[in-house]
Amino acid sequence: MSACESRSLARRMDGLALSDIVQIKQRAAQLAGEGRRIVDLSIGEPDFDTPHHIRDAAASAMASGATHYTATAGTPALRAAIARKLARDNRRTAAPGEIIVGVGAKQIIANALLATVEAGDEVIIPAPFWSNYVDMVRFAGGTPVIVPCAMANGFLMTPDQLEAAVTPRTRWLMLNSPSNPTGACYTLDRLRALAHILERHPHVRVMEDAIYERLIYPGHTYHSILDASTALSDRTLWISGVSKAFAMTGWRIGYGVGPKPLIDAMAVVSAQTTSHPCSIAQAAAVAALDGCQDVIDQFRSAFERRRAIVCDGLSALPGIDLIAPAGAFYLFAGVSELLATMTGRGIENDRGLADYFLESAGVALVPGSSFGAPGHVRLSFAAADDALRHAVDRITAAVRALAR
Ligand code: PMP
Repeated sequence: MSACESRSLARRMDGLALSDIVQIKQRAAQLAGEGRRIVDLSIGEPDFDTPHHIRDAAASAMASGATHYTATAGTPALRAAIARKLARDNRRTAAPGEIIVGVGAKQIIANALLATVEAGDEVIIPAPFWSNYVDMVRFAGGTPVIVPCAMANGFLMTPDQLEAAVTPRTRWLMLNSPSNPTGACYTLDRLRALAHILERHPHVRVMEDAIYERLIYPGHTYHSILDASTALSDRTLWISGVSKAFAMTGWRIGYGVGPKPLIDAMAVVSAQTTSHPCSIAQAAAVAALDGCQDVIDQFRSAFERRRAIVCDGLSALPGIDLIAPAGAFYLFAGVSELLATMTGRGIENDRGLADYFLESAGVALVPGSSFGAPGHVRLSFAAADDALRHAVDRITAAVRALAR
């Protein structure tokens, strides 16, 4: 009997559950609680502390009485800091009314979908995808249209794929660059080609999730779809936040920049649910955006070192396909060939392989199926260098044990 058949929950809850990542994390914590040494590479969260100047700003905000309700769309000070950040980093101008602050980028995405999507509406989601997109679209009552993007194409959507996916019911295209889970980053040329198609379909809006925009490795550059086409500015919601760049996941501050009517509608959704994010966290986010940006370079160079540990370590293994990620802190490895060598050993697919790595090797990874791409596993390298070396050693030993 489904939860909804029991009549205690609403129909919109049908099929909605905790994400696989949360469940794997819980299992990893349970094994650790039983005394097992677990290396948890399941979740995407910088392991650094929030920089001091940001925490100090929060303490002063609290001491000086910034403890009241704020404007629903976020404090004027934070929206002004976001406008300055956009001018500085993204060469864009935005009026305060075109900016909304949310409880993480996650709430911005959810509110935009809730405000615009209804039954029968389609949302194009390139796969591999951050699985919340699919669940959020369903929760809003819409239909996810999944477009599989192959590793051979760098996990990026081709213009032909976009053209084929658009229908009269398409409401949104979701774009996530750099991507969770692949770290793939759209080039300006590819964005121009996609924009060219979108210009011919004026009913399609673009939700660009740029939460990893600041975490880009040498040789790659972050570009927005808005750098490719200004014609899309009146139908693009551009989303970022402080969680990943400033190691501020727990503070829950994200923001969206887009056309005022959409931003106003999203503010109405916030007003009916959370009101606004915590006043103190908003003050901390001002310090993050206005303060010294060198901290991001320090984090990025640590992630670059860690990327090398996992890429070098795992590329030595037979049956594993890798593309070094251009950004973010995930490695999305192809394991189809490895799985093919395991037939008859009780490991049928990527879920079985992730289970095996967790239960036998004590390394928590997430199966590609959770991101709409079976035959892969995702490993987060937002973990200490030693933990990553251990993980590589344990995965190597576990793969060799099976090959015997
Ligand atoms: N988008 C993507 C692609 C993410 O990976 C995440 C966090 N895992 C988010 C959005 C949400 O970020 P926030 O912490 O700002 O809600």
